[in-house]
Amino acid sequence: MSRAENGAETIGAVAPEGGISPAPRARVQAMKEYHPPLGSRDALRLDFNENTLACSPRVREVLAAISSGSLTRYPEREPVEAVVAAHLGLAADQVALTNGVDEAIHVLFETFLASGDELLLPVPTYTMYEVYASATEARAVAVQAADDLQFPFEPLLAALTLRTKVIAIANPNSPSGSAATRAQLLELAQRAPQAVLFVDEAYFHFHGETLIDLVGVLPNLVVARTFSKAYGLAGLRLGLLAGPAGLMRWMRRVLSPYSVNSVALACMPPALEDTEYLDRYVGEVLAARAEFEAALDQAGLRRWPSRANFVLVDIGPRHAEFVRLMRAAGVLVRDRSTDPGCDGRVRITIGTREQMRQAAAALHATIAELGLAGDDHASPVALSS
Ligand code: PMP
Repeated sequence: MSRAENGAETIGAVAPEGGISPAPRARVQAMKEYHPPLGSRDALRLDFNENTLACSPRVREVLAAISSGSLTRYPEREPVEAVVAAHLGLAADQVALTNGVDEAIHVLFETFLASGDELLLPVPTYTMYEVYASATEARAVAVQAADDLQFPFEPLLAALTLRTKVIAIANPNSPSGSAATRAQLLELAQRAPQAVLFVDEAYFHFHGETLIDLVGVLPNLVVARTFSKAYGLAGLRLGLLAGPAGLMRWMRRVLSPYSVNSVALACMPPALEDTEYLDRYVGEVLAARAEFEAALDQAGLRRWPSRANFVLVDIGPRHAEFVRLMRAAGVLVRDRSTDPGCDGRVRITIGTREQMRQAAAALHATIAELGLAGDDHASPVALSS
């Protein structure tokens, strides 16, 4: 029996060279490694749901003006937290900035999940929930969505127990693109007052619906937002947690005061202020999504309706070849086949209309080469502009 299975305390592990080396906790030994496929991405990046263009020019200006002297200081997050809170209509003590939403998830789980607790989550969903949960002593309770990949509301309600301590909902969800309604989320929060309802609004801007106005109203609601998607700042690692001041106080104990660096902090106010840039980018993506979904329909490929900047497509058993051929054609897409209930499915990020026309052309050529296109799909997918 391995250490991970028996959970026994160990003082050391046998190193490959035969010596003794320090052993990690049993839960860490049992964790799966997660390596997102980030290598060789010099192509049209439709694989990580990033902004496919650039951040606001106002952010670029701030970046250009950062002095080397300012980098000698430790970052001070409180003034920026106040700006962000005001932008969201919240009080400063209801908002904590994080090193991307990934750190927000990590901090929230470390704060609330103990031995004997349950993390409830619908699947398929964002991978990092289970990764960070597996580092805690809590048990993850995954509720499988039906084939339509809609939010499994009733099954989630049925899976609530008194041990449910965190309910993690990406809204809209990834990789499905489906969304829960406000009424469903409210009912979940009310039915589990002992649990934190964590609503990850990473894709909020493409959906337009939010629960942020209920922060501080619902005593157990915590919302996360990211600057990695619509704002185009994935490389800076900026996210936030918003919740009742009492819950935020616990999470601030776990959160490093310096985890958001000063360059990222400096970029946050101009990113928030340039709503015109954001609206233009989101508008472009929504127009491109409608066109691309029509192209998928014309190609006879099954897809799931999306409320986000990506679309999940059923490619079938030849999904891996599809992804490889798309890459050869200069378009990166993401194979989600190993996600629960997603065998044969590929997620394609939505960029601009021009980019998605390039993607549609590559897709058409690829499905033709794989013999996935029927006779009526033999001509290039027509896209209206
Ligand atoms: N939540 C969801 C639902 C996501 O899809 C992603 C990114 N793929 C994240 C959070 C991570 O966001 P960040 O870059 O802010 O860590």
